[in-house]
Amino acid sequence: MTNRVDLLKFYSAGRFDFDGLIMAIEELVSNVDGEQLMINYTEVNEILSGTNLKRNSAHGRILARALANLIFASAHRSSAEMSKQKPSRRQIDTVQRKYDSSMKLTDRVVDTMKLPININEILFAANREWDYALELSRKNGLRHREITVTELLPTTNCPHCNVETYQIGANHICGLCGAMV
Ligand SMILES: [Zn+2]
Repeated sequence: MTNRVDLLKFYSAGRFDFDGLIMAIEELVSNVDGEQLMINYTEVNEILSGTNLKRNSAHGRILARALANLIFASAHRSSAEMSKQKPSRRQIDTVQRKYDSSMKLTDRVVDTMKLPININEILFAANREWDYALELSRKNGLRHREITVTELLPTTNCPHCNVETYQIGANHICGLCGAMV
């Protein structure tokens, strides 16, 4: 079973519906019974091109991180909400560390008036989710032992062999002919 979230569903005309995403993550997490919670998300690039932000620009990078951060935060908060166990030191430390790094990310957003998308609101929503996650995980621990959040990048076919390429760093490589696509 893949727990996949298409982010474009929550984007429209310069606005990202962070509440909608939070609800979607909550629902997804509540359906995962095992110890491992894996969430894949897609379509960051589509949102970036909709807002005319380059992925490797300062704001493009912050937007990409803000979205990942919000998914991660909501996943932790939802997992803590489901949990009814004694928290371990490790769980609390993990959430604390992520909470701290989320706050640092927020500190880096400046000149908000010029942004083509509500990055700040996404970051504040993530911080609020981390706040809850921290508070709840101190009480309940986390329901899932491992929580991973991964961006699925679009795959490309090799123009020579027409097989799916695989990604190494920023490059797509064909496993048959070795071409970089
Ligand atoms: Zn090839």
